[in-house]
Amino acid sequence: MSAPKAPRRLLDDCFLHDRDRMRHDEVLALLDERLARIVASETVPLDQAGGRFLAAPVTAPRDVPLHDNAAVDGYAFAFADYAHLTTLGIGARIAAGDLEPRTLGQGEAARLFPGAVMPDGADTVAMQEDCQIGFDGTTVTIPKGLKPGANRRRAGEDVKAGDTVVREGTRLRPQEVAAIASLGQAHVDVCAPLRIAIVSTGNELLDPSDTRPFAAGHVYDSNRAMLKALAASLPVEITDCGIAPDDPARVEALLRHASRENDVILTTGGASRGEEDHMVETLDRIGKRHLWQIAVKPGRPMTLGQISDGARDCVVFGLPGNPVAVFVCFLLYVRPALIKLGGGVATVPPRFPLPAGFQIARKKKDRREFLRGWLETDARGQTIVRKFERDGSGLITGLREATGLIELPEAVEKVVPGQTVSFIPFPCLGLAP
Ligand code: AMP
Ligand code: MG
Repeated sequence: MSAPKAPRRLLDDCFLHDRDRMRHDEVLALLDERLARIVASETVPLDQAGGRFLAAPVTAPRDVPLHDNAAVDGYAFAFADYAHLTTLGIGARIAAGDLEPRTLGQGEAARLFPGAVMPDGADTVAMQEDCQIGFDGTTVTIPKGLKPGANRRRAGEDVKAGDTVVREGTRLRPQEVAAIASLGQAHVDVCAPLRIAIVSTGNELLDPSDTRPFAAGHVYDSNRAMLKALAASLPVEITDCGIAPDDPARVEALLRHASRENDVILTTGGASRGEEDHMVETLDRIGKRHLWQIAVKPGRPMTLGQISDGARDCVVFGLPGNPVAVFVCFLLYVRPALIKLGGGVATVPPRFPLPAGFQIARKKKDRREFLRGWLETDARGQTIVRKFERDGSGLITGLREATGLIELPEAVEKVVPGQTVSFIPFPCLGLAP
């Protein structure tokens, strides 16, 4: 990726060629460079920390496990004895949770249960089902072929004292919660939720709950519900700012108000430069714009800016109006930005190269396209990528059919069946199946 250090240009001309618009990689580089964590941290009980971004690294105060212990039900012995003797007297009986230190007698085996601390002198455990107990119950015959240290868990084999167990910025999954609990830590410092305001703009929009008659010219607002559902997968607090009409004064008032109480504003609609589009000019008037127009389909008029009020910055994403563009822009650009602003570490989603099960006779050069696609198995048993037939970026049906995005980079000018294309499954973009 040859991303420039600073944005190559601030664009003001809506008749630009794709060549002059900001490219996908440049947008990501810009987001990475301009955005940093803006949320404070807070201490929460560990059982409420799942899904949050860790605000400070967690290190191990001691080894886990603290002592060598048995991994199975069985008999612990000294491997040195095993070399010449396979029948041993049964000495101590040690269960998980027995705290008293124990020592193995010479030529003895100890009866151990999983998690029981190994007695001093023992280093190997034979599984009970492989052992034979003598007729009077006082001896045990150890099977042949055990390796030294078999069925023994070593002190510190999971985590060593001083290890960084979970790094700052990690999203706490159940696995990380378990790891932190295993250190004996009941509270954890996490990033405060990012406060996000979501606004739809457009005179044609009606809220789905609106009881007014739905007339020709009306469109039910689907972007807000979709964005709320998309953003809800991250540690955020969402404020629903409803619908703003295509009126510069109203858009400005709404942005100003929302910027005071939120870290991020997501708007949809009005992001182009038509007479009824007010997002770009409003942002220019009351804030600062970092980006407008990207060489990406769908999503071309996406805007990024900020509104600053003294010491505080509020990041504004002006997303296009079409639902497909909103969806794609959210997954590709807004989501990693929210992760970074919220204190997390965004990773580049993996691309899976697969043969195309479709064709595109002509694709415009210089822009990257993201198609709605899914996987199928062809007659030869090969996994191929299919695409939703119709292109319209207002077609929510294509989003429903899809299980991922097909990425066609700038240089691609056509796709023939069988040609390798990149597929990004939705779960790799944070969208649960
Ligand atoms: P705009 O970018 O405002 O010109 O909008 C582009 C297209 O997206 C128009 O057909 C709008 O009606 C449609 N649109 C804008 N906002 C929404 C929304 N919130 N829900 C559904 N469609 C929308
Ligand atoms: Mg509009």
